Amino acid sequence: MGKPADAVSDPDAVTVTGVITDIQRFSIHDGPGIRTTVFVKGCPLRCFWCHNPEALAPRPELQYYADRCIACGACVAPCPVNAHTMRDGQHSFDRARCTACGRCVETCYTRALVMAGEKKNAHDVAQVVLRDAAFYETSGGGVTVSGGEPLQQPEFTRALLGECRAAGVHTAIETAGHVSWDRLRDVLSVTDLVMMDVKTMNPETHREATGVTNERILANARRISEHGTPLIVRTPVVPGVNDTKEAIAAIAGFVSELQSLVKYELLRFHMMAGAKYAAIGLECRTADLTPPDDDLMERLTARAASFGVTVEHT
Ligand code: SF4
Ligand code: SF4
Repeated sequence: MGKPADAVSDPDAVTVTGVITDIQRFSIHDGPGIRTTVFVKGCPLRCFWCHNPEALAPRPELQYYADRCIACGACVAPCPVNAHTMRDGQHSFDRARCTACGRCVETCYTRALVMAGEKKNAHDVAQVVLRDAAFYETSGGGVTVSGGEPLQQPEFTRALLGECRAAGVHTAIETAGHVSWDRLRDVLSVTDLVMMDVKTMNPETHREATGVTNERILANARRISEHGTPLIVRTPVVPGVNDTKEAIAAIAGFVSELQSLVKYELLRFHMMAGAKYAAIGLECRTADLTPPDDDLMERLTARAASFGVTVEHT
């Protein structure tokens, strides 16, 4: 390890703030080894299967889990905009009034009310990351900035990764890649590994599934590769979007030409976020989807591997 954990190697890190939804320590799914994953808020895509809907909007939001509410009424008085009301022993929440000030959250001991998104400065977050430096060293892990989209808050991501890297910690981002090259290149200067989704090669399918076309994403994947930053490409295998041998073969063909590719991963779609959608006031559109079975995942993996790349699947 480099500098002691409390050294500030990047003066900007003290003043640069970001809005984050979570800091997950001892994570093993967001890159090599044991990692700390920092989830930032805000994403330009709207993938209908997103597992982190609370990270889509850039601003802090109040999550309301109605099934945890015991109708105690404690949240009514502290709310300055009367977003909470009690009538006939029933609690109701008017999201349209809520300004996400967070005052009601402290009064709700059943955790029916939870804030999604908190402003933090990069140095403070780096201090949390550096607590586990010994584990990164023994496991080959490090820090990952995920989201949301890390490149929606490029100054924060850069300051955080810059400080961690200066302390000898391996740095990674999980990105959708739908950002300007200038923004991406700046963050690459402090990034050891990029994990990036390629969801489909078909621009129209991509637009329907995510809200944006894929030209910029594919161009950025090529540029990352030319830049020389190690790259893991991932495809979430989603029914009706890319769960065919043809769709995966098209992506694998593209991926096989990326010089800095470490591996290609096929991630089985799982529906785990239904309650989170309701809590944030969004509609969940995956309730009727069935995750791909083992046989399909094996066949898609074999097809992708036929392009000569290392392929793993979940
Ligand atoms: S977060 Fe603030 S504005 Fe929103 S419901 Fe709670 S107290 Fe009211
Ligand atoms: S404080 Fe929590 S449990 Fe009590 S009424 Fe409000 S949301 Fe429901």
